[in-house]
Amino acid sequence: MPAEILDGRALATRIEGDLRAEADTFAVMFRRRPRLVVLLVGDVAASASYVKGKAAASARVGIESEVVSVPGTATTLEIVSLVKAIAAGEHGHADGILVQLPLPPHVDATAVLDAVPPDRDVDGFHPENAGLLSQGRPRFVPCTAAGVQRILIDAGIATAGRHAVIVGRSDIVGKPLAALLAAKPPRAAAPGQRTCCDATVTLCHSRSADLASLTRQADILIAAVGRPKLITADMVKPGATVIDVGINRVDGKLVGDVDFDGVRDVAGKITPVPGGVGPLTVAMLLANTLLAAELNARR
Ligand code: NDP
Repeated sequence: MPAEILDGRALATRIEGDLRAEADTFAVMFRRRPRLVVLLVGDVAASASYVKGKAAASARVGIESEVVSVPGTATTLEIVSLVKAIAAGEHGHADGILVQLPLPPHVDATAVLDAVPPDRDVDGFHPENAGLLSQGRPRFVPCTAAGVQRILIDAGIATAGRHAVIVGRSDIVGKPLAALLAAKPPRAAAPGQRTCCDATVTLCHSRSADLASLTRQADILIAAVGRPKLITADMVKPGATVIDVGINRVDGKLVGDVDFDGVRDVAGKITPVPGGVGPLTVAMLLANTLLAAELNARR
């Protein structure tokens, strides 16, 4: 029987509904809307399209947003100064600040991301937020990792004691996901609350030997690599849950890191590309922006 498809769009729509209500409550309490400022460097079409999508999603849930654009020739120093100016309120109140990646190759991305104040770092990339996550007390969790967590929780996939294999060890996806899945349950978890932790995690990368032997052990297999169809049916344990984070453009079409048609016949549950993790990444950005607004407003 083909795998059940986990519909990220439907879940993101439900989450947006909840966030809309939260944003409206925030507006009544604090007499202003939560506000996100996005910094876009250069004119890469894909980045511009992602930024447009984030602005549209913000508007849907009642979060104000502004896009600050600078030419791709801007230096690291200029971009860092701009981030500091945004944080100082020169582009209006900024509850959340997001720097759209990738930055041009001549720019020191680490210096730019480190300049985002950690209490407005809605992408969760600042070392302070990465450190909090690794210590099991998350504040802003990187949006894609948080999105995968929401998919697993929503689909009722048990993680405690299960083997999660993550392919890809980037700071923005693989590592934060490993931290979330391997974490102890949150202390504040209510009895019966669904969580996504207590897994045994294997984190693979380009130097991992015999990748297929590792992925075949996975109860939950997550691909975050950026290689079209890297994960084939023979690399998947029958009945496993397969989460495809990859976004690759092949012949003008978006495809994931998983050979969807082949793997669908082996897996128990699978996310599609597009329509799987992507919509959740945007929804988690909105959730982080609301959290930032609440933290800022109560300060
Ligand atoms: P990175 O390029 O930062 O990291 C890729 C990881 O994959 C690295 O750890 C790399 O290993 C590993 N890798 C590369 N080739 C292989 C291989 N043959 N076997 C095993 N591991 C390999 O990518 P990102 O984490 O930023 O993104 C990964 C994918 O997810 C991309 O397709 C990206 O577009 C997509 N993405 C999707 C999002 C969404 O919302 N759905 C959001 C963010 C990203 P090493 O460390 O050794 O180099």
